[in-house]
Amino acid sequence: MQLNGQHTDVLIVGAGPSGLMMAAQLLRYGIQPVIIDSRQGPTDQSKALAVQARSLEIYRQMGIVDKALKDGKPAEGVTFNQNGHKIDSFSVKNIGTGETPFPFVFLYQQSKNERLLLDYLTRQCCPVYWNTTLVSLKPGADKTTAIVNDGNEDAMLTCRYVVGADGAHSVVRKQLQIPFNGDVYAQEFFLADVVLDNPELTDSFIQLYLQDRGFTGFFPMPEKNGYRIIGNLPEKATDNIADLQLEDVVPAMNAITGLDIQVIKNNWFTTYRLHHRMADSFSKQHCFLIGDAAHIHSPVGGQGMNTGLQDAYNLAWKMAFVISGHMSENILESYAAERMPVARTLLSTTDRAFKIILSKNWFVSFFKKHLLSKVLKYVWSKESWREEFFKRVSQIGISYRDSQINLHLSNATKVKAGDRLPYLKVFDEKKQEETDLHEWCAKPGFTLIVLGSFKELDLFTLAKWLSQHYPGLINFFYLPASAKNQPVFDAFEIPKGKKKAIIVRPDMHIGFINDVVAIDMMDNYLVNVLGLKKQ
Ligand SMILES: Cc1cc2nc3c(=O)[nH]c(=O)nc-3n(C[C@H](O)[C@H](O)[C@H](O)COP(=O)(O)OP(=O)(O)OC[C@H]3O[C@@H](n4cnc5c(N)ncnc54)[C@H](O)[C@@H]3O)c2cc1C
Repeated sequence: MQLNGQHTDVLIVGAGPSGLMMAAQLLRYGIQPVIIDSRQGPTDQSKALAVQARSLEIYRQMGIVDKALKDGKPAEGVTFNQNGHKIDSFSVKNIGTGETPFPFVFLYQQSKNERLLLDYLTRQCCPVYWNTTLVSLKPGADKTTAIVNDGNEDAMLTCRYVVGADGAHSVVRKQLQIPFNGDVYAQEFFLADVVLDNPELTDSFIQLYLQDRGFTGFFPMPEKNGYRIIGNLPEKATDNIADLQLEDVVPAMNAITGLDIQVIKNNWFTTYRLHHRMADSFSKQHCFLIGDAAHIHSPVGGQGMNTGLQDAYNLAWKMAFVISGHMSENILESYAAERMPVARTLLSTTDRAFKIILSKNWFVSFFKKHLLSKVLKYVWSKESWREEFFKRVSQIGISYRDSQINLHLSNATKVKAGDRLPYLKVFDEKKQEETDLHEWCAKPGFTLIVLGSFKELDLFTLAKWLSQHYPGLINFFYLPASAKNQPVFDAFEIPKGKKKAIIVRPDMHIGFINDVVAIDMMDNYLVNVLGLKKQ
């Protein structure tokens, strides 16, 4: 077997969305991982349906977002129905305008995401070793030995790092003996990817039908009249679950929705149980867990795949900087420190929401029947709450303010070190064109942005300091004060005549903000806080 006897810097186990994103991000830094998957090839099962704005921002940074935008579509809103009657509709159309280049909830199946990332890997000459299963791992002091099998024979390879992106039943997690605590929901669910002849379902609104007996949700797919249907199985149906077909659940669906469901094409039907679990630790002995290997939860809010993509995005640049010798290994500890709180919050919020959807408790039923629509209407009428909702669902509100690898040396309170870099339009005075801060951070590596009025000599000194001591690692931009750029100065709370230095991490989170632009203070951050090796 080709892999036998090889040594690799990174072995990625699993070529689902998390593993593929991990590989793609490492490739951006010139690191070639070995990525294996026990499947025969990429999936055609749709699985996750929503790609959130934060994930699209990553695709934009990678230069692949246009393809995704072409092949998916934004959801227009959500309609709540109770006992067959519409109670209310809430539009999510361009709900996050001004906050991100992608101010919507985007519908683009997991299978398409995987294809998109796989194409990226192919262009970078990084093959996925399909039909190759991790059998065992033996972590050592400076390398881990992995045994993999291609269906015929075992191969042994040694790895500096192992990334377990191998899903809920992760062998990596089990080999590391990391507990995966949590629980399983009592109910059984079904999922169907179908084409329907039900014009009353309006193609681009998510339709949720809640009823005492259960729920059914219709999620529009990018293809015309294509829907993902999710619902809980009728109690009687769970007796013969292995043989269950779509036709068996249609009567229950009709009863819950009051519709006459007409299936034109059934692409995929499956039943499943949902768990909410989280690994006790996201790393152990040079091995890391990302995506479903680290956390699983109910699909409420369409967060699972996106969280896996963000795990990979967070870990990959840190690993790449260590492997290329630019950073000390301590930086890798910040992966678990930053991502475990995100997963913890996600598990508790999705669990609460899911329990409300499923509850048969009389009080919750009363709430759903009589109060839910009024509460939602009230919440939706407040712009600030709509903004908060979008920030959470889109994942653009995730911040690492408490992380040890960020440093906030500023009186500003609106945007702080650890936050995602806000999406702000800027007028580039040098090129005389409109761009935005995210575009400035498109290149791999850190980005230093200085704002305010600087003498040419000061800018020259900054550029020289970067190129001499951190060559190729930190991109540099300068934004002078101007009427056109005043919103940027306002966002960062920069008073008239003052300056600011912002160092943006490769994952577009702010690492450092200082109201003073001083090289020694930036050196201190880069070397002593981040562990970057100064030349
Ligand atoms: C019904 C449903 C709807 C969902 N909807 C959404 C949604 O709208 N939005 C959202 O964000 N998420 C959603 N999710 C969740 C989403 O599908 C998962 O979170 C996502 O697949 C996780 O990706 P992953 O790469 O971490 O793991 P996986 O996709 O599970 O990939 C793991 C890979 O590892 C491979 N593997 C496993 N063991 C081994 C081994 N020993 N050796 C080699 N390879 C191995 C597997 O073959 C697999 O390809 C939904 C999930 C379900 C079930």
